[in-house]
Amino acid sequence: MPEHLQLSKYSIGVGDRFAHQAKAQLTACIQAREAGVQVTPVWNKSNREHLIIGSEPSQTRAAADAAVEQLGWQGAYFVDADHINLKTSGRFLAPCDFFTMDVADDIGRPAESAAIDAFVRRHPELIGQLSIPRIDHPLPIDEAFVRRVASKFLAAVQQAGLIYRDLAAKRGEGAFVPEISMDETDAPQTPPELLVILAAIADEQIPIQTIAPKFTGRFNKGVDYVGDLQQFTKEFRDDLATIAYAVERYGLPRNLKLSVHSGSDKYSIYPAIREAIRDLDAGVHLKTAGTTWLEEVIGLAESGGDGLKLAQEVYAEAHAHAAELCAPYATVIDIHAENLPLPVTVASWTSEQFVRALRHDGKHHPEFNPDLRQLLHVGFKVAAGMNGRYTRALEANEPIIARNVTANLFERHIRPIFLD
Ligand SMILES: [Zn+2]
Repeated sequence: MPEHLQLSKYSIGVGDRFAHQAKAQLTACIQAREAGVQVTPVWNKSNREHLIIGSEPSQTRAAADAAVEQLGWQGAYFVDADHINLKTSGRFLAPCDFFTMDVADDIGRPAESAAIDAFVRRHPELIGQLSIPRIDHPLPIDEAFVRRVASKFLAAVQQAGLIYRDLAAKRGEGAFVPEISMDETDAPQTPPELLVILAAIADEQIPIQTIAPKFTGRFNKGVDYVGDLQQFTKEFRDDLATIAYAVERYGLPRNLKLSVHSGSDKYSIYPAIREAIRDLDAGVHLKTAGTTWLEEVIGLAESGGDGLKLAQEVYAEAHAHAAELCAPYATVIDIHAENLPLPVTVASWTSEQFVRALRHDGKHHPEFNPDLRQLLHVGFKVAAGMNGRYTRALEANEPIIARNVTANLFERHIRPIFLD
């Protein structure tokens, strides 16, 4: 019998582009435990990142296992096949025990009209003035709304069902944590839409433990949230209340929680998230990835000499190939090219100038440049193309890089969400 894997209440996706920072990342979770909170580390890496870097999911597993062993971590930890689908899941099956089933591309693909009719007939309880505990006003949901939401999302949920059953057959029921992601799409999902989606997920009998909707506002990679903070706060709380309701009503797993993708660096919404999960006694999964790669570049720049030169070279190459690097990330970056410094300027920078421009600390350093940071965020392909020169530099400058990686995760992410 496979053990039934369960994700705990608080967890953080740590990513690790080059599989060199697992120890530094785990150290942040150890610091969290010492400060009084259990935060489960999840090493997530998407198929897209593996393709860009030319790496294998088994390397992510090996790095995670080695860090856990070396640091004597006794808690749970996972390796997440992030943003996979039916076509791409194969090489993730053995090394991963967490699967993020990405069905964003199927949103809006029309389901069969008979399936939509059947869904509407099966769910009369959705229609009317729906009172959900912890949501101020009853949700006015009529049949036309349910039909509209089903038309937009049912095919995506059916697709998630296909992916889930394929994974369950190959890896074993209960032998992985299933997540559904709908974040990389244009329109955010509202709480009433989320309710309809959860009802459809229950119909498909997918025991999801996390769901990643697209929230209102921009979740650009590596920089702060851009949007209406009040609206985000209300929708996030209503999403939590909707999930709690759907768990009871539709028998979804009790530990089902929200997963916040592109979750790193969103400092302005962390207080709202922290208060909401405390008030509603809910869990959350915060997914980060590239923020760690950026700390590697910061560490290299900080070490000066060849490290700084390498960081400058990565910037110059990223600048030269900006359009190509940005294309796969269109919905999650927002770069103002006119604010990007010229590579020749960056090449003249001192360690301090480079670090101040890149480190996400605009409060203390007005030199912080979010456009440069986003460009470098997607620029890891440049480092991947350096034939091992980049990873050798990581190894040569390990202590200074590790210090940046750990402090970034603990001080700027874990602390404001799970501790303060
Ligand atoms: Zn995502």
